[in-house]
Amino acid sequence: MSAVMTGYGNTKLISGNGVPLEATMIDFRSDTVTKPDKEMRTAMMHADVGDDVYGEDPTVNELQSLAAKLLGKEAALFVPSGTMSNLIALLTHCKLRGSEAIVGDESHILHYEQTGAAQFGGINLRPVKTFSDGSLDLDEVKRKIRNSKDAHQSHSVLLCVENTHNRCGGRIVPHDWTLKAGRLARENGMKFHLDGARIFNAAVASGVSASELVEPFDSISICLSKGLGAPVGSLLVGSKAFIDEAHRCRKALGGGMRQAGILAAAGILSLQKGPTRLAQDHVFTKQLAITAQEVGKGIVEVDLESVETNMVMLKVNIESGTTPNSLVTRLATTTDKEKETIGQDIRLLAYPMTELNVRIVVHCNHTSEDIKLAQDKLRFVLGELRGNV
Ligand SMILES: *Cc1c(COP(=O)(O)O)cnc(C)c1O
Repeated sequence: MSAVMTGYGNTKLISGNGVPLEATMIDFRSDTVTKPDKEMRTAMMHADVGDDVYGEDPTVNELQSLAAKLLGKEAALFVPSGTMSNLIALLTHCKLRGSEAIVGDESHILHYEQTGAAQFGGINLRPVKTFSDGSLDLDEVKRKIRNSKDAHQSHSVLLCVENTHNRCGGRIVPHDWTLKAGRLARENGMKFHLDGARIFNAAVASGVSASELVEPFDSISICLSKGLGAPVGSLLVGSKAFIDEAHRCRKALGGGMRQAGILAAAGILSLQKGPTRLAQDHVFTKQLAITAQEVGKGIVEVDLESVETNMVMLKVNIESGTTPNSLVTRLATTTDKEKETIGQDIRLLAYPMTELNVRIVVHCNHTSEDIKLAQDKLRFVLGELRGNV
């Protein structure tokens, strides 16, 4: 199946697999699927570049300064991905053999990064319970911290937090909890790292500035290629001394990019304009969540209170006979009856995240028209599954 862009919001399918020409596919799998708009592509085309391994790319330098300033820290490092950014942070903080990092048992670092910290750094990841709002059980953290001179024990060097929390459905970690967690880390001589892939979603939705949200952390990873709309790239942010070390580590991992200003130019625009746009994504997300909750009774359940940013988790009622996989498959297909009712061939892509949940993610390429069509589709499909069609 191949596809062509119509504007930048959704995709018209143009051939193959019996998918008709007039179908409209709206992609809610993730906010990683965004495509750069014309303004961003123009900025990339005109970017001033140099060899960034020598520190000579002016556009990369500008992006790094901008990120450091936005987060209220001394320095930042442009890296190819959020996974590398977290990995560099872990490798830089946990230098001694026998080090361990305490992470949430639902964290991206634990679930989706191949435990690179263990593969490449011999670092033990020690999981603790994650609550539904993305915060961690601090009593358990306290019990698990090991920093005595006892030769039996590893050294707990780092505590990691994720905000917004992906597997919790884009939840905003409460800031007073973060302050407490930071104090606990400090009292025990530990460093404090934030996987802030979507920290600007948290900032926009909570009305607290990103720099205030990240103030307690020694290092922060942010993603430009999620909701902010850049095609590639993340930044690791922290003190000047930390970033100097991280810079060496990036080179060792093969992450030193040369004329990366072409990518950094998109990153600068994503930081300047992306955060403002996120509020719109959050409004669209709430609209989809309300529709799913209204029409999905018995098939899916949505906890509207927990829809705080750009994600909706549809909790599937397995007893109804529908599963996350079957729902995702149904949303990606269409029927004649449906086409007649809606008047169009609409296909939604979503992600079966766990054995119980389907995740829907709204991003900057979605228009109000896409959201309206997605609501029509959800109304029809969930009605059909409830036996109303
Ligand atoms: C996407 C994501 C990452 C990793 O980013 P990549 O660029 O995909 O490697 C890290 N943490 C969280 C919470 C994410 O959502």
